[in-house]
Amino acid sequence: MSEAFSHIEKDDIQYFADIRTRVSEARHIVLLSHMNADGDACGSMLGMALQLDQAASRAISVTPILPNGCPRYFRWMPEADRILSGESQLAECQELIAQADLIFCLDFGQASRIDMLQDSLLKARGHKVLIDHHHNPKVEEFDVIFSDPSISSTCEYVTWLSKALFGTVFFNADVARCLYTGLRTDTGGFAFSCSQPSCFEAAALLVSYDIDPADIHNRIVNTFTINRMHFYGFALSQRLQVYPQKQTALFAFSLQDQHRFGIGGEDMEGLVNYTLMMEEIKVGALLREEDGRTKVSLRCKEGDVNVLAAQLGGGGHTKAAGATCPWSLAETLDKVRQLLGVYDLQPTSIELNQ
Ligand code: 5GP
Ligand code: MN
Repeated sequence: MSEAFSHIEKDDIQYFADIRTRVSEARHIVLLSHMNADGDACGSMLGMALQLDQAASRAISVTPILPNGCPRYFRWMPEADRILSGESQLAECQELIAQADLIFCLDFGQASRIDMLQDSLLKARGHKVLIDHHHNPKVEEFDVIFSDPSISSTCEYVTWLSKALFGTVFFNADVARCLYTGLRTDTGGFAFSCSQPSCFEAAALLVSYDIDPADIHNRIVNTFTINRMHFYGFALSQRLQVYPQKQTALFAFSLQDQHRFGIGGEDMEGLVNYTLMMEEIKVGALLREEDGRTKVSLRCKEGDVNVLAAQLGGGGHTKAAGATCPWSLAETLDKVRQLLGVYDLQPTSIELNQ
């Protein structure tokens, strides 16, 4: 086994022959990833789907499904138009999950992360294979579990696992573009979660399929609508609360804020990281009101926000975690401020020179 397979444990290998047989015998394969999909969710699902298309020995259906569809920013990905949405095609998705022989669950560790498709997954008779890098997966919800929080991204995991399963015969430029995308986005452009050589080895392998990292960067990063850019200005000047005493900063956005600029959750992807751009800030949060609930994103440079997210009923990674809270924005803000130790503090006001 090469150095690059270092994440694949001896225990894992015993499952490979079984998975290969199941792939070759399956009639219907479903791939699932989480609500509000990011580059790692879309990339790992499509990168795996494109290989499964080729791996199956006869005509089968291979269907990628996301609870609320493929975000606009990732629709350029190869075959992204194949992704079904639980929100707008619920009955079809439920039917496909129920009849699937094999279900790949990518980039989430518990069925609650797929929202309205949760019950379908839990009831499904198909063999459920989890490939994920979040902390504390709910092992009882899956049949085979590949889960390792030390791996940069699910896309890296899929790169090594699919290589171990099939070799690289099904790798091509389309597969590589999908998988490279998640590697790039989950590491913030190879800035964090990439301290292991295997992350760069996976990137090198994928780039060898003649993909263009600069083009992928442009498609991911340089895609703001003008309204989104104006919203960022508003967010930084009107909605950023900074608590230097506690090395903490947070944003909170009501539905009205979002409606004013005509933007949604996917437009806020990455905004929470602005809190950490201030040198003295170590922990950042972003709260976004949704219909009847509030989405919380947490980030840190030091310490562990996964444990904070767990106290809000969520989870994630050590340095990036989140929760979906069944409370109003005001209630959630109170709880988050308590959790971050800034409940009794006033945020600093902006000081401008006259
Ligand atoms: P983001 O803040 O970008 O939405 O999510 C960062 C990380 O937090 C995700 O990779 C995911 O692991 C985790 N996360 C986000 N939202 C939730 C949630 O509602 N529940 C759980 N369990 N984890 C979440
Ligand atoms: Mn991920």
